[in-house]
Amino acid sequence: MPIDATLPYDDSNIFARILRGELPAKTVYDDEYALAFHDINPQAPLHILVIPKGAYVSWDDFSERGSDAEIAGFVRAVGRVARDQGLVAPGYRLLANVGPDSHQEVPHLHVHIFAGRPLGPMLA
Ligand code: C5P
Repeated sequence: MPIDATLPYDDSNIFARILRGELPAKTVYDDEYALAFHDINPQAPLHILVIPKGAYVSWDDFSERGSDAEIAGFVRAVGRVARDQGLVAPGYRLLANVGPDSHQEVPHLHVHIFAGRPLGPMLA
């Protein structure tokens, strides 16, 4: 179900539980600001989610309330994950859904990394 991204953060969401170690994830990167893991239902040959360690519902919430250090740390982590996976030369796509029209389902900010095949033109 798409979520209302204007609601306060709910720390029972599935990614909060992954961050607390209550649920497993196939982790590919972990630092002070970000955790990255394979999407459980991949939409491309490589589909990784990168999430901030802080409690932020969406890109909107993070860009408004996140500290400069958290935002810089998270953005650098997304780039680092893609580089570590060898994606810069072949290319990759980043996506962050915000709210119901985008079909955001998990109310903890996540950036999707899609790669592993030519992805075609962006679909609106
Ligand atoms: O952007 P959106 O909120 O729609 O994406 C949520 C993503 O989280 C989906 O791609 C879904 O497969 C993934 N997911 C996951 N592990 C879970 C629950 C959801 O990787 N336990």
